[in-house]
This record gives sequence, structure tokens and C-alpha cells, in this order.
Amino acid sequence: MKKKELIFVLLLFVAAALFYGVTAYQKKASDVAAISIDGTLWKEVSLSEDGTYTIETPQGYNIVQIQKHTAAVIEADCPDQLCVQQKSIKQPHEMIVCLPHKVVVEIK
Ligand SMILES: [Zn+2]
Repeated sequence: MKKKELIFVLLLFVAAALFYGVTAYQKKASDVAAISIDGTLWKEVSLSEDGTYTIETPQGYNIVQIQKHTAAVIEADCPDQLCVQQKSIKQPHEMIVCLPHKVVVEIK
């Protein structure tokens, strides 16, 4: 009998944890990253779909990766590589800037 009770309590705990996890997930405010080149919107990408996007600019290219609701520049041929070194972003108004290419990735 005691074992059954324990399993019941464990199940309740798992259900509560799942419920909490789902609501916390849904609360995530932002779902879109806006990529712009030289101040002009190039593309809005969904953060809920993993993928990579290659941005071609007159100065060179940047590759943006969307993974697990975060956006990051994983590759670029700019001379300073600062955009690649910046850590991934996911909160609204966070951004990654590539100055040489005038590329901005911003969470909406
Ligand atoms: Zn760069």
C-alpha cells in the first residue's frame, strides 16, 4: 500500500512539474527575431523554429542560427568577428550587431 501511495504522490508531482513547465514555456514573450541590413528589415524569423539563415550583404555574409528559442550569429566573414563572439540572444530588445556588415539581429 505504501508503495502505491508513493507512486501516486510522484505522479502528482510530475503532473505539477509538467503543468508548470508548459505555462512557463507559453509565457515566453518573444517569438520573433528581426534581421535588418543597413536599417532595412531583411527578414523576420520565428524563434520557435530552429534553422539557419544566411544574410548576404554588399560587404559580406552573416549566418544566423535559431536554436532552442535563441538567436546567434554563428559565422560571418567580417574582419572583427564581434558578431560571432556575442552570445546568443532571446529576451526582447536584445540584439546582435555586425558593424562592418551593418547587420542587426534584434528580438522583438
Ligand atoms: Zn560581424
